[in-house]
Amino acid sequence: MKTYFVRTFGCQMNKHDSERIAGMLETELGLHEAETPEVADVVVFNTCAVREGAEERLRGHVSSLKAAKTGDNPDVIIAVGGCIGQRDGETLLSYLPHVDIVFGTHNVGSLPSLIASASESRSATVEVLSEGTEFASDLPSVREHPWHAWLPITVGCDNFCTYCIVPYVRGRERSRPIEEIVAEAEKLVADGVVEITLLGQNVNSYGRDLYGEPRFPEALRRVAATGVRRLRFVTSHPKDLSDETIAVMASVPEVCRYLHLPVQSGSNRILKAMNRKYTRESYLALVDRLYTEIPDLAVSTDVIVGFPGETDEDFEQTLDLIRRTGVDQAFTFLYSPRAGTPAAELENTVPREVMQERFDRLVTVVQSSAFAKNQRFIGTTQEVLVEGTSRRDDTVITGRTESNKVVHAPLPEGASAASLGGTFVRITIDEAQTWFLSGHFKG
Ligand code: SF4
Repeated sequence: MKTYFVRTFGCQMNKHDSERIAGMLETELGLHEAETPEVADVVVFNTCAVREGAEERLRGHVSSLKAAKTGDNPDVIIAVGGCIGQRDGETLLSYLPHVDIVFGTHNVGSLPSLIASASESRSATVEVLSEGTEFASDLPSVREHPWHAWLPITVGCDNFCTYCIVPYVRGRERSRPIEEIVAEAEKLVADGVVEITLLGQNVNSYGRDLYGEPRFPEALRRVAATGVRRLRFVTSHPKDLSDETIAVMASVPEVCRYLHLPVQSGSNRILKAMNRKYTRESYLALVDRLYTEIPDLAVSTDVIVGFPGETDEDFEQTLDLIRRTGVDQAFTFLYSPRAGTPAAELENTVPREVMQERFDRLVTVVQSSAFAKNQRFIGTTQEVLVEGTSRRDDTVITGRTESNKVVHAPLPEGASAASLGGTFVRITIDEAQTWFLSGHFKG
């Protein structure tokens, strides 16, 4: 029996593409999932070019397969797709010569035929298209969790933030027709999915290219009405989050009271250099408006530390903004230049040790904000979607609240974790740590 292994780097869009890749390999090629890449007949790396770490990890993983290819597993087919495949195309073979297939972000659906031709010809195959016509959702899928589904509503991005490679590797923004989105959501719900996450590089600009069609608030309303229990969405660009979307979040119970709103910097000078098209004042006003309309909203953000030209004063403004917004979580990154982006050409780079020192201070502020915000849950009873058992203790379930908080609770006597996966349980919170809540089943 032939097997496959898919390793995913990067964002939710890549996770979604990987579920489609697994679906095609199973239904079109009849492959089964292998436990490790070393024993698989086909290994697919779905890559990310946004962060430096993901690129380095790809090189490490492909190199470690070299031993299998020159030893026990000479017929293994190694395919590299995603953003690095799209960006580098044939060049990728010059630094990773053991790769058999390079494909891009626009032709995920061609992978089965590329595998068939690579295994026949035993020579490297490169197929990277400059733009795509399909949404990966049209393809079969093997979902990581049967109760959760990613649902792309846009692909690509028109924003051209100066540090970001996405518009160059995912192309210009394209929106799916709303009827197609709703039909897919209905199918997912019928299939037992209880939580859907709408996906797009900037979901808030959904529909802008579908002249006269409904925009994002309407898409939220329509998908919420399909019978799904929880509806999430990522990512929101602060410049495009409308009052109407906030009103839908505040009034439609299926739409989770959780928002990921990347700020990247608290300094107007740096925001301008990043081409983010909002100011610290407008971001703070937006967050105020959100908390006014949705007082129990949980907010997370992204911050890049050490963008070229960032001074101590710029960074202090970032710290101040993070304190003032009271974030529940922040994904923090040290700036690293991405070849092909305008920021990669900027001089006045921040020394590594200065970046690291700022980063450490930011993490401390984020942790204290997250800890303080979690205290509000103590004594409350939360509806938790069970994801499985804790990695450390299989008698403790782990799941998430509507506000995306991880919750741990001991299994009640006689209950089995397997039967609770994907169900909603009520947990009373006894303790709040920085990154998780602990509690007990409400009787
Ligand atoms: S909004 Fe900016 S950071 Fe996000 S994908 Fe588009 S260009 Fe990249």
